[in-house]
Amino acid sequence: MASPIKPDRSEATFEDYKPAMSEHAAVLEANRCLYCEDAPCTIACPTGIDIAQFIRKIATGNIYGSAKTIFSDNILGMSCARVCPVEVLCAGSCVYNELHEEPIAIGKLQRYATDIAYQKGWRYFEAGEDTGKSVALVGAGPASLACAHELRVRGHACTIYDKRDVVGGLNTTGVAPYKMKADRSAEEAEWVLEIGGIDIETGVEVGKDLTWDELEEKHDAVFLGFGLGPDSSMRVDGEDLDGVVGAVDFIEQFKLGTVDLDGVSNALVIGGGNTALDVVRELVRLGVEDVALVYRGTEEKMSGYVHEWAAGKVEGVRAHFQTQPVAFLAGDDGKLRAARCVKYDANKKPVPGTEHEIAADRVYLAIGQGKLGELVGDLDGVELEWGCVVVDENGATGRPGMYAGGDCANGGKEVVNAAAEGKAAAIAIDAYLMGGE
Ligand code: SF4
Repeated sequence: MASPIKPDRSEATFEDYKPAMSEHAAVLEANRCLYCEDAPCTIACPTGIDIAQFIRKIATGNIYGSAKTIFSDNILGMSCARVCPVEVLCAGSCVYNELHEEPIAIGKLQRYATDIAYQKGWRYFEAGEDTGKSVALVGAGPASLACAHELRVRGHACTIYDKRDVVGGLNTTGVAPYKMKADRSAEEAEWVLEIGGIDIETGVEVGKDLTWDELEEKHDAVFLGFGLGPDSSMRVDGEDLDGVVGAVDFIEQFKLGTVDLDGVSNALVIGGGNTALDVVRELVRLGVEDVALVYRGTEEKMSGYVHEWAAGKVEGVRAHFQTQPVAFLAGDDGKLRAARCVKYDANKKPVPGTEHEIAADRVYLAIGQGKLGELVGDLDGVELEWGCVVVDENGATGRPGMYAGGDCANGGKEVVNAAAEGKAAAIAIDAYLMGGE
């Protein structure tokens, strides 16, 4: 099958914003670590990586062992080293913050060790003895990859179904390219799959090409890792104009192929979350002259990470806070020319008499993604909340043998959360299959 990731895609021009560490820098940084007991950095990591341990191994030159420590807790440790918001997780919890000193560069050290493991072709895990059981995983994103790997270690056969022809989910199609490019995510997926015994069935939409009944008949257990749906709509006039684009669609397009921004000099990105922040920074790097965020709340209320927004401002992104589009307007040529907006008060309520226009030749909607829980909402025992699949702490739904994790259950969190939830579900599925419940 031809790879859907083109070598000349738009994202290929992006540089890493956190360049790789040299050996010298890595050893120096590793030696700064205090190797804390009950390390707060590990407590803050959803996958519970033994951070002090892997850093200590870098300090002593044991890179093989360091990467093993990382992968033993998080098989997606290579991509997480690049895409994790370490500023609010491990590094944000490092004791150095309390000493008002620079926290340990945990993400960069993790990248140093895992990159070497990939370069050297080190392999740490083997499939367990065949149990004769088989598990279906719906969706080929991080949660399913982490779940399938752990299930293979425990000897269960796995089949991953995905309606698309690209593996890795949002890690491949949705990560800002200055953090990680699509081919790196695809490489990680291949590396994970090398354990063997994980079949990938792409182009198969469960519920349509294969019914849920058929799926459950073929397999002994099911893991739902189908992520989120398409970009949410604002339901305002003019949203169907050429030039009004969904943010997730846009990111996917330039990560897998090319985008044409010729003639685009004035872009608005609607939203205040991390996707909006990714898009504004990407547009600046893609050469769009004037890029502005439009958010109905205040700057302090933005749900996007503070450090990402701080970086966006430095890069020249402007913002219209407490502002919300109520329509998108076309010029005489039928092309998008502006957003009609109103001002919002501090309680996110429109202020009468504040209608105004903001010129735009491109608008990106980054107001969230739809939830896909309804795909399984009719199955006995499966409950939904706000469109997400309801699970217990082990990822179990109320339907025997059906588990879920990642964005379709948590509503949209980080890759590291998906990795943790996928692995936890695998352990629970193993207990279910081997306990014969
Ligand atoms: Fe090292 Fe900081 Fe973690 Fe302590 S909290 S073990 S200093 S990285």
